[in-house]
Amino acid sequence: MIDFYSDTSTRPSRAMREAVLDCEVGDEQTDEDPTTRALCERVAALLGKEAAIFLPSGTMCNEIAIRLHTQPGDEIICDHLAHIVNYEAGAPAAFSGVMIRTVQGPDGVFSPEQVAEAIRPDSRYMPRTALLCVEQTANFSGGTVWPPEMLDAVAKVAKDAGVATHMDGARLLNAAVKSGIPAARHARDFDTVWIDFTKGLGAPIGAVLTGSKADIDKAWRLKQRFGGAMRQSGIAASMCLYALDHNVDRLAEDHDLAAWLGQRIGALDAVAQVLPVETNIVIFDLKPDAPTAAEIVEALRARGVQVGAFGARRIRVVTHLDVDQAAAETLMAALRLALAPVTAGASA
Ligand SMILES: *Cc1c(COP(=O)(O)O)cnc(C)c1O
Repeated sequence: MIDFYSDTSTRPSRAMREAVLDCEVGDEQTDEDPTTRALCERVAALLGKEAAIFLPSGTMCNEIAIRLHTQPGDEIICDHLAHIVNYEAGAPAAFSGVMIRTVQGPDGVFSPEQVAEAIRPDSRYMPRTALLCVEQTANFSGGTVWPPEMLDAVAKVAKDAGVATHMDGARLLNAAVKSGIPAARHARDFDTVWIDFTKGLGAPIGAVLTGSKADIDKAWRLKQRFGGAMRQSGIAASMCLYALDHNVDRLAEDHDLAAWLGQRIGALDAVAQVLPVETNIVIFDLKPDAPTAAEIVEALRARGVQVGAFGARRIRVVTHLDVDQAAAETLMAALRLALAPVTAGASA
């Protein structure tokens, strides 16, 4: 199966697995795993933060950050398509007792004016706005890159109102590679920022949450409470270190392949629109007379290609280190065949 469903579909390479063999390990719960410590130091430096903590998943990074910045009854601000809103099983409500106020930015990039409007005035009747969250890149808006000036501007509105800031940086390194602007610059005005190792970086487990020493100290207690404390986690961290050494610069190849796909998909008669392709995600909508997204997913699967349906007529294709130009050509051929009746109708 050629898997364009997600950049989480990567399998650790042989070289990445070999990085595990000689890694030093210790008890991570007591912060005595040397490989995990090395990874945390490296990610803290990469993102320009004082401290970092290794967690099993990006979801746990988001949920620990939300918990540490809020009190039950508070409100947090997120884009309406954010992972936090749609794919974390209601954790902000379940674990932190917070409400979410969504804003709708064009392609996931909302404006400082929208943030100002979403922040609650000081009133005993209203929830307290405690946290602003941004996603870099904006996954379900097509992998859009927030320009640093926009990040600065929304963070400033939050800061001026006493609202904490959090960056879901699942694909922050895609944004850094695409923009040529270092990850630390993107992260600068955000109190907590994390990166995922299981997306384009190709590791099987792990994410690192960074922030001030005080915030990461709080995160350690929450990690214990949420059941995220590990033991010889150097086994996983060594693969993350390998990913930082070998799989960051090559993200540009994923972006090029996504751009190639975006152009060709956009030229298909049955496609109503392709969201702007900036990084490794191609999201497109089918015209009303085309087969549904679910039908296309099935038809492609029958031809050995996996893509994702995210809505009745919306499809997402993600490039990563386990798909190449030949895979992209197979995808295009399968897609043309699946959409053939519409194409034939259009030209008749
Ligand atoms: C994948 C993803 C997450 C969650 O990360 P996991 O490591 O899968 O838990 C959070 N936010 C965004 C934007 C993601 O794409």
